[in-house]
Amino acid sequence: MVRDVLFSTFLIQVKVGCIMNNIGVFETRQGNKYIFDGATNMVLSASEELAHTIESHDKLDRELIYEKADLPLRQLMKKWDLFKLHEVELSQDMILDELRTYPYPQMILGLTENCNLRCKYCIFSGNYEEMRTHTFKRMEKETALKSVQKYIDYIEEWRAYAPDKQPVISFYGGEPLLRFDLIQEVVAYVKQTGFKTMFSMTTNGTLLTDRIIEFLVTHNVMISVSLDGSKEMHDKNRVFVNEQGTFDVVYGNIRKLLAEIKRQGKEQILPMMILSCYENETDMVAMNDFFVREKHLLKSMGGRLSKILDTELGESGAVHESMSVLLDEYLQEISTPNNEEQVSELFFKERLFGSSLKVSHNRNINPYGRNYSSILGNACIPGSRMFVDVDGTFHMCEKISYQFPIGNCEEGLDINAISRIVEKWSEKFTAQCKECPYQSICGLCYASCASGDNFDIQGICTTRRKDIERQLSILYSTLEQNPDAMRDFSAHKDSIDRKYDSFRFVMDKC
Ligand code: SF4
Ligand code: SF4
Repeated sequence: MVRDVLFSTFLIQVKVGCIMNNIGVFETRQGNKYIFDGATNMVLSASEELAHTIESHDKLDRELIYEKADLPLRQLMKKWDLFKLHEVELSQDMILDELRTYPYPQMILGLTENCNLRCKYCIFSGNYEEMRTHTFKRMEKETALKSVQKYIDYIEEWRAYAPDKQPVISFYGGEPLLRFDLIQEVVAYVKQTGFKTMFSMTTNGTLLTDRIIEFLVTHNVMISVSLDGSKEMHDKNRVFVNEQGTFDVVYGNIRKLLAEIKRQGKEQILPMMILSCYENETDMVAMNDFFVREKHLLKSMGGRLSKILDTELGESGAVHESMSVLLDEYLQEISTPNNEEQVSELFFKERLFGSSLKVSHNRNINPYGRNYSSILGNACIPGSRMFVDVDGTFHMCEKISYQFPIGNCEEGLDINAISRIVEKWSEKFTAQCKECPYQSICGLCYASCASGDNFDIQGICTTRRKDIERQLSILYSTLEQNPDAMRDFSAHKDSIDRKYDSFRFVMDKC
């Protein structure tokens, strides 16, 4: 019934591209020019004259480009119809299809708004406008189980469109281990339904007792622990309520967790993730040194690095000079063949630089013009991820304010609410981005653009566009030096990714 009314009143027409503006120009460190065709996402070598012509005209003029192009580019223009205006219509059917077929639907249960830490950069610290703060509110068992049942129902229904879905139920807070009781209830409930899912949890790592660790590993809960590097780095921001640093406790618990994973013989199927935050002032070389030193202890880790949003804690702008030292090292390392030992020391730098290079390198090439995902800047479709707050309201993400609800545990997803969010986003996106060549690789995110109950894309655009052109320049500078650099890099990434394929095993065993 829900599907029948889905997006029934919702249709967005988006005209993509205004021409010369739909082509990007960037230069490598070696001084060579390239153009980025926003219609197909192809990168093409360009002469100085052609690059200059493109840069100095507002509107696309294919005849002018053809005139200035060399023979190979002319042939490519004919073959692939490059630099063409494509119209894409974002219809309710396309959006619904995306929601049904999305392979990694996730429900994130915000079990409590409380936390036993007071990290200085915490998004719930009160330093971030519009975000909630720590409270004593907790999720009731009934709310958690109703939400999970809704999720199970959706996944079962959507499997008809994408049988290979890999569902994930995640535990989040505040600090989710303050509600270990509820975690146990949810796991028991899901198992009793027979529903196959992966479980995951993001924790500050301070409350991991032996009993809790044994339970989590036994039930294949993939655990992400926050660790910001060495004791000095970590304790600068990650502190208990009494301001004491947490490094010693967290580090000790990570060791216990890894020992239990080993004891249960799950090293190959249950990776632990480390989440690390850094500031503009962070010495990234020192951070890298810490993780390389600890690689034997943390060898099963994957992880994510996040730059702390600027608050009064840090000034925007300048990045620590160690960042460019590390980048130069990294580019050198991926440009030369690596042995296993060297590869194992690269993981931190890959988390730091590799992900964005990978996005640029592995971008979708659309030889027949844009698909619809590019016209949302690759933002997800709300509902593919459901964050449930303590009251049972569904939100589109755990990192966004409560201004964008998309349903609740009683009624399920509110399709009209989802439609309104996508419509608002699309309006802003069309206004700001319709002539930008980088729509498909911009990686825009609702959470980073949220402003009140609407979005401000303009605010992040200038730095974003510069970042993209810098990434493309770095990527192609590296490829000019070693055309195989990204192949080696991709092969290495594959070996890391293979580790995460083990999630499927985890799911089968649940
Ligand atoms: S552990 Fe997480 S929720 Fe708790 S204060 Fe630190 S960042 Fe915030
Ligand atoms: S935010 Fe800026 S860089 Fe990103 S797609 Fe929009 S116009 Fe382009």
